[in-house]
Amino acid sequence: MSLLEVSGLETFYGALQALFGVELVVAEGEVVALMGRNGMGKTTTISSILGMIRPRNGSIRLAGREVAGMRAHRIAQFGVGLVPEGRRCFPNLTVRENLVAAARPGRWTAKRVNELFPRLEERHAQYANTLSGGEQQMLAIGRALMTNPELLILDEATEGLAPVIRQDIWAAIRRLKREGQSILVVDKTLSEMLPVADRCFVLEKGRTVFSGLPAALTAELQDRYLGV
Ligand code: ATP
Repeated sequence: MSLLEVSGLETFYGALQALFGVELVVAEGEVVALMGRNGMGKTTTISSILGMIRPRNGSIRLAGREVAGMRAHRIAQFGVGLVPEGRRCFPNLTVRENLVAAARPGRWTAKRVNELFPRLEERHAQYANTLSGGEQQMLAIGRALMTNPELLILDEATEGLAPVIRQDIWAAIRRLKREGQSILVVDKTLSEMLPVADRCFVLEKGRTVFSGLPAALTAELQDRYLGV
């Protein structure tokens, strides 16, 4: 059974339709890349899955359970953890407090997060608003893991970060994948994302126009759907 199965998803902002039938599947233990140029509907798809926006039509199944139309806090209880665009943490809490505040029972603990990101351990008593951008991103991922999600969603997790920090984040994602974590990732740097992905979905104008193995996303298709 798929962990996440989205079909025929249609979402509106007021009268404006943003999604016109998105199809997306994440199997257990898979890393799935959700791609598309700016404004094609990636964030709207994620917001719909999480119940932050209520889709008008279509189905969103999490481990077989229909969640379309449910409120965000209920969907979160079914095990979806988001690392949001803009790496939001509590600025006036320390690194450790940020992790503990997110904690739900499961295999992820502050200790394991610190093993994944040793920089966070070194800065455990530092306030989140004094961290570098890269450290804040690590903390945002750590916070999402502390909720012990079945599905981890990363929305633009490496945007605006220095290359060396991006490598650390991708290394962490590869490690999570080896440990069997299911991940849905949105990122603009295909050269970094495609080698990690098991499967890709490409959105264009609110529709899924490609789904398949990364190897099937040829240079021509990349140019057609993702080129500038
Ligand atoms: P980006 O890569 O720039 O983040 P995206 O693929 O995530 O883009 P979305 O942010 O999902 O795209 O936007 C899809 C469409 O919905 C766009 O046409 C956008 O203008 C519109 N849209 C997004 N958010 C809102 C909003 N709050 N109100 C109205 N329209 C919105």
